[in-house]
Amino acid sequence: MNAINADIPFYLPVGGECELFEHAHKNNLPLMLKGPTGCGKTRFVAHMAARLGLDLHTVSCHDDLTAADLTGRYLLKGGETLWVDGPLTHAVRTGGVCYLDEVVEARKDVTVVLHPLTDDRRILPLERTGETLEAPDDFMLIVSYNPGYQNILKSLKPSTRQRFVGLSFNYPAPDIEVRIVAQESGLDAEHCAPLVNMATRIRAMKDQDLEEGASTRLLVYCATLIRSGMSTLDAARAALIEPLSDDDDVKAGLEEVVLATF
Ligand code: ADP
Repeated sequence: MNAINADIPFYLPVGGECELFEHAHKNNLPLMLKGPTGCGKTRFVAHMAARLGLDLHTVSCHDDLTAADLTGRYLLKGGETLWVDGPLTHAVRTGGVCYLDEVVEARKDVTVVLHPLTDDRRILPLERTGETLEAPDDFMLIVSYNPGYQNILKSLKPSTRQRFVGLSFNYPAPDIEVRIVAQESGLDAEHCAPLVNMATRIRAMKDQDLEEGASTRLLVYCATLIRSGMSTLDAARAALIEPLSDDDDVKAGLEEVVLATF
């Protein structure tokens, strides 16, 4: 287990993901992380970047995000037109990890700038400035997405996917999740264990009633509210039931699971 170091965000490994990250980084390979929301992908990247002493440039992708948002654009400043680097260009110029969270949300033209960066050329051509930037050795591109949300229009094309090495995330095993929730919330492990048990039952409802199971993030919220003095039931309503559904019948079903656990 990794020691808790104030400068390195806490991350409890669930398998061989830290080794894979180190090998990918050492060999200039881009990494693709897949998994449901709130299961540790972003924390993993923050932890590994800090552990390897790399700057981290994170972009939360959305459906309006274009290639120019990543590469940069000319802006008018005090009567002058100046080129301003976008986060991807900045990362390629200065090195470190560029993490594109929920990359499938971005506009399709984004893949055009990712392709030359994710093969052995490792270059970023900037048409607008006429530059071709070569990625430094410590530059690493990481993308993440949630396969569960995807529809056919929002998936990565094989020509893009096959430029990355991939890693699937899922909810951690119960004993590991108890340790994570305890560490993150400050609630003792004995009281976190029933929360993880409850989450396991809620996750079993996925596909029948729920679009997505209860995330580790929500368990941390729930434990934080309990530690702050709220009753378990009120904390579970606020942190587990309300964020998971708007449907009264589904919420009643979730409340039954909560009541059956405590
Ligand atoms: P994602 O990027 O997958 O949506 P995050 O990385 O933001 O999810 O994780 C949500 C929260 O869950 C984190 O802020 C952290 O509190 C907790 N978490 C999940 N997995 C781990 C783990 N393996 N080690 C430490 N914390 C974790």
